Amino acid sequence: MRLILLGPPGVGKGTQAKILVDAHGIPQLSTGDILRSAIANKTPLGLAAKEVMDRGDLVSDQIVNGIVSERLDSPDCKPGFVLDGFPRTIPQADTLGKMLADKGTPLDAVVWMYADRDVLVERILKRAQESGSVRADDNVESIRNRLEVYRKQTEPLVFYYQDLGLLRVVSGMDPIEQVTARIAHVVKLRVHLHS
Ligand code: ADP
Repeated sequence: MRLILLGPPGVGKGTQAKILVDAHGIPQLSTGDILRSAIANKTPLGLAAKEVMDRGDLVSDQIVNGIVSERLDSPDCKPGFVLDGFPRTIPQADTLGKMLADKGTPLDAVVWMYADRDVLVERILKRAQESGSVRADDNVESIRNRLEVYRKQTEPLVFYYQDLGLLRVVSGMDPIEQVTARIAHVVKLRVHLHS
């Protein structure tokens, strides 16, 4: 299964990606996580990305395309993957499409998770408080910018994937288990029910 979770910051992509990973044994590819770990390790990539990320702007397409291309080549991605936080721009989506076409492994679906802006801001701030945030981009200013960047640069991907017939839509405002069930339903995954 090859899936993209698409949606604004705070909508719950990371949470649902982890659930899918546990349930289906496929890896989560989160460009945000990869970049944050590069920053923590002070690699050249991390040093190049830090300032841009802290502001809530996007790291260059060239950098993230490189990260994803390398990651997709690793053996654990053979059975599939859940992409979370990538693609975020039309050029990134074009590049991903080409990479997957070259491998003969097209996407199965793109799940768009949506939520009201107020819900998103509230959730990100709450997450920051509860985790005693180590994320430099979880301040009001950067959050506002991340939402704006999402609206301008990432939301057009909804139409992009709709045109390709891949788009599935799920509300990110319901309780976590309900969102999981909706995702399973729209991508026609077999759900393992606990008795
Ligand atoms: P969130 O979606 O909750 O804001 P992420 O962890 O997905 O957080 O991303 C955090 C930051 O990492 C983004 O604001 C951006 O600076 C950078 N980033 C992550 N993925 C990409 C991407 N695909 N393209 C460009 N920048 C990215």
